[in-house]
Amino acid sequence: MTPSRPHRVLDLAGIGIGPANLSLAALAQPRTDLRTAWYEQRPAFHWHPGLLIEGTTLQVPFLADLVTLADPTSPWTFLNYLRARQRLYPFYFAERFHTPRAEYDAYCRWVSTHLEGLHFDHRVDAVHWDREAAVFTLDHTRLGTGATARTHARNLVVGIGTAPHVPGALRGLAHTSTAPVVHSADYLDHRERLLAADHITVVGSGQSGAEVFLDLLRARPAGRERLHWLTRSPAFAPMEYSKLGLEHFTPDYTRYFHGLGEPVRDHLTARQWQLYKAIDAGTLAAIHDELYRRSITGGWPDTTLTPGVTVRAAHRRTEGGLLLHLDHAEQGTTSHLPTGALVLATGYRERPLAPLLSGLAPHLRHDAAGRHQVDDRYRLALDPAVTGSVYVQNAERHTHGVGAPDLGLLAHRSAVILNHLTGRDCYPLPERTAFTTFGLNTTGARAVAERRFATEGTGQISPR
Ligand SMILES: Cc1cc2nc3c(=O)[nH]c(=O)nc-3n(C[C@H](O)[C@H](O)[C@H](O)COP(=O)(O)OP(=O)(O)OC[C@H]3O[C@@H](n4cnc5c(N)ncnc54)[C@H](O)[C@@H]3O)c2cc1C
Repeated sequence: MTPSRPHRVLDLAGIGIGPANLSLAALAQPRTDLRTAWYEQRPAFHWHPGLLIEGTTLQVPFLADLVTLADPTSPWTFLNYLRARQRLYPFYFAERFHTPRAEYDAYCRWVSTHLEGLHFDHRVDAVHWDREAAVFTLDHTRLGTGATARTHARNLVVGIGTAPHVPGALRGLAHTSTAPVVHSADYLDHRERLLAADHITVVGSGQSGAEVFLDLLRARPAGRERLHWLTRSPAFAPMEYSKLGLEHFTPDYTRYFHGLGEPVRDHLTARQWQLYKAIDAGTLAAIHDELYRRSITGGWPDTTLTPGVTVRAAHRRTEGGLLLHLDHAEQGTTSHLPTGALVLATGYRERPLAPLLSGLAPHLRHDAAGRHQVDDRYRLALDPAVTGSVYVQNAERHTHGVGAPDLGLLAHRSAVILNHLTGRDCYPLPERTAFTTFGLNTTGARAVAERRFATEGTGQISPR
């Protein structure tokens, strides 16, 4: 890429068009004075297409659409989408608070086709800071043609989301025609091939693992299910969904969490897994109902559901299929499981920012664990030589807590970013969002807690 003088400078360039940056693009649209552009490597908007399993719903109410919680009067609300599709009455009578996942996907795609400045099939390869012109440069490739180009922007927002995670011990298992090994993110593309296997193992007990297990179970004949569902977690645990528990997904909690010291935050995030990693109670009930239904006429379904099991290693057998090496931590036992197909419902990890932002590396500030620092306006901490802002969306769980990937906080975060970018309250935000008051307003409390967590590493802050 040859250096060029910027001839057209954007106010904001977005990298990635998942729900997070789509929300920001939708809320930015009425600000006609803002020059924005958004780049996405996929050919069109698609939301986790491999997991749009029939019957699955969002785990947040429809009000957690792209805009409503910041601006219910926006033309890009889910309700306005229904109106445009002439589906308001069916929705009204359906009395559904949790919309089908496929419908959320279609709604977002509808928004994406109406906004200007969205560039699909564009992968952003590198970002640099041009000190002389005081702008960021984005080098991108148009997929399909391979054409490269450069965009200049005073500010950036990185919303590159998460990527499927496979534990180290299972990474070497290539997918073959004889024994499919599939991450749950690609489940629907391989469903028929998985179902053709004599025996199937699902590993992982998050929401995806539960949904895949239920879907496979429903598709197998009663008594000949031949399914294993294994998880390292000590139980097939329900997700925390009590109303006060959900206040962990409010701006109030996010603000509180951001104000805590790094060791305290790390300690908390590890302990809060049941807020975001577990299984929705409705899905657990549906699995139990299905198993129960299959046992009514006597006998047990041919299924094995075992928590507390780690798949330590796996290899392909010469005679076909796979052999899984299993450890049970509580019992201290090991075992082997032959299987014909494997679904890795082993979760997602934030896509690392470092490869994309390597051109900014000398300017970026990191915390003690080497992670990027993010301020309360979702900006990466940069040295003062860089006068533009790099905002991040869904890359800040370590600084902002469990709500970072949550759809219910998208609109609020977008509004915070836009208000900061424009220097105006274009989206006035509520001062209070929870009945719970998180923390005491006591000076010195943070220093005491930080010292304690740094030395102990575990334990709760006990009320005094
Ligand atoms: C199956 C599933 C169901 C979920 N359901 C819920 C739910 O019900 N409620 C809830 O609150 N949360 C849910 N989540 C969590 C979260 O809301 C979603 O993961 C959401 O998609 C996050 O949005 P995002 O925009 O941050 O990232 P993503 O949706 O991951 O989008 C990021 C985009 O960036 C693009 N990209 C990456 N790198 C580049 C690059 N270099 N150049 C150009 N484009 C790039 C990617 O192609 C991708 O399209 C769910 C997650 C999953 C996996």
